[in-house]
Amino acid sequence: MDLLLDSMAREGFEQVVAIHDRWSGLRALLGIHDTRLGPAFGGIRRYHYRDEGEALRDCLRLSMAMTAKCAIAGLPAGGAKLVALEGPDVDWEGAYEHIGGVVESLGGRFYTGPDLGTGERELGWAARRTGFVTRPGAEGPGELAEATAEGVLAGIAAALRHLDGAEEWTRRRVVVQGLGAVGGRVAELLRERGVEVFGSDVDPERALAVAERLGIELVDPSRELDIPCDVLSPNAMGLVHDLTSTRLRCRVLAGGANNILAREEHADRLHERGILYAPDFVINSGALIRGATFHLEGRRLPVPEIGARIGRELERVLAAAAELSEPPARVAARMVEQRLAAAPPTPARAGAPGRAERDRRAGPAPLGSRA
Ligand code: NAD
Repeated sequence: MDLLLDSMAREGFEQVVAIHDRWSGLRALLGIHDTRLGPAFGGIRRYHYRDEGEALRDCLRLSMAMTAKCAIAGLPAGGAKLVALEGPDVDWEGAYEHIGGVVESLGGRFYTGPDLGTGERELGWAARRTGFVTRPGAEGPGELAEATAEGVLAGIAAALRHLDGAEEWTRRRVVVQGLGAVGGRVAELLRERGVEVFGSDVDPERALAVAERLGIELVDPSRELDIPCDVLSPNAMGLVHDLTSTRLRCRVLAGGANNILAREEHADRLHERGILYAPDFVINSGALIRGATFHLEGRRLPVPEIGARIGRELERVLAAAAELSEPPARVAARMVEQRLAAAPPTPARAGAPGRAERDRRAGPAPLGSRA
């Protein structure tokens, strides 16, 4: 892997913070990617990483995805992510409190919230030390995973309309990978519309419980890619890479998971195969839209409004992609770049980003010339 500062410069990162707390045993990394459009938003992912390098790569990729999500959703916000390394000796209550202290020390440059391994209880611990945290439920903007699932459904609907002119839910077959907070709700929304749903989850107990509740058929997680279907909806982890991009047997790939494609080129492979990939950063921003609007504008957005907004954005992307005969992910990535480039030279907030942006535009200054 490249040296850290080289990677940061190449990808336009503003700040990466390594966090260690001797009291709780916390080891974590915070990436603040881009605050040109406004303060950075990103959840806390607590995960069993093989090593620190894997955690850093995940942190950087996820932070960049958050920037893209904010820009495409038209939010006055930027991207960040905090990843905490799962380990046997960590006092997690103390660890999340410590994270709260770190977030507070950034003074509103970074707002955090839920992600894999971090739910309401953990965010409550962090909230003892900071207000820059989005808590699901009554104390926050409202249910977050529900908003994400609504956006994913709106994305699936827009993709089907784009291909066939109508959703025609009752004749569709959808495979949902991951039946957790987002995937479980996506499966439920689809079942309510009469869709034939196949589900998979590596947690057999959870899989069984959801299957019984919704009346869906379970498939082995190793087989989810092989099932012929209208839509494959990844709602757990990324799943398209060199070995799998040729295996997919769906017409539409649209889900809530972050970084569904291992690399951007995989969007081209899917496009060549006639598979419509609805970019994850366009359709999985429901929770972000809800959280950022709550913090920045003091409003609780209704879930249907969020779904409609995401559906319209994907329609715009798909229409432009069709006109240019390009993969939607490429077109959406360009829209992100254009929105970032059009950010006002002085950011909405005073402080470090304004200085960083001025420096970036002015080019490197001679050594010793900066205060
Ligand atoms: P979750 O932990 O509630 O659910 C994830 C589920 O996926 C779990 O049940 C887990 O057992 C299962 N899983 C893990 N690996 C799997 C695999 N290889 N195959 C099948 N199942 C597998 O998490 P969530 O909140 O539902 O989030 C799911 C995904 O969506 C994550 O990638 C997350 O980053 C992304 N996302 C979530 C939100 C949100 O609002 N929660 C917002 C944006 C993006």
